[in-house]
Amino acid sequence: NPFVGAAFLMSCARITQLPADGLPEIAFAGRSNAGKSSAMNALCGQKQLARVSKTPGRTQLINMFNVPNGRFVDLPGYGFAKVPKDVSQAWGSLIGDYLQGRANLRAIVQIMDIRHPLTDFDVQMLEWAAHRGLRCLVLLTKADKLRFGAAKTALLQVRKALAGLPNVEAQLFSSTSKQGLDDARNTLASCLSA
Ligand code: GDP
Repeated sequence: NPFVGAAFLMSCARITQLPADGLPEIAFAGRSNAGKSSAMNALCGQKQLARVSKTPGRTQLINMFNVPNGRFVDLPGYGFAKVPKDVSQAWGSLIGDYLQGRANLRAIVQIMDIRHPLTDFDVQMLEWAAHRGLRCLVLLTKADKLRFGAAKTALLQVRKALAGLPNVEAQLFSSTSKQGLDDARNTLASCLSA
């Protein structure tokens, strides 16, 4: 596991509080309840790491974790609201400024429940990220909830829908069964070392 030893660093309420070094960061985004915290815990091989992101008062902050060679950044889960025009309108200026301006940001991990993939806002996130030239890894999580054939079909549909976006890759994932865990770890480790 390339992310062994991951540990909570800080919660940031203002962009000026972010660490002022050059360490690469990977940001995790997804609709609330998609399985983002579980995926971060699974990737790091810890049960409770992302628990801090669910602490009342911290759910709307940028929560940062140290991992070997960089940081994982947990962005607030978004809701079911209509598609916002821009990222700041969706999330407020903190997240908007982070996504649009943070030089440390190397990649986005977009967490989607495989049974409800590609919400309008998921797609918009990926378009923003592609526009910025970031790598994107789509984790279709809770793959254990579908039979193998149905999961494979869902993956192919998502890949087809995202074929026009550069630097986006999608894979099956499950925090419960650990399906896809090694592949995801390898992809993310390469984002931090590149
Ligand atoms: P978050 O709001 O995106 O951080 O979502 P959580 O990680 O808290 O997960 C939301 C719910 O989905 C919880 O009840 C989890 O136990 C469940 N869950 C998350 N990942 C998986 C998975 O891979 N498989 C299954 N079966 N359930 C999952």
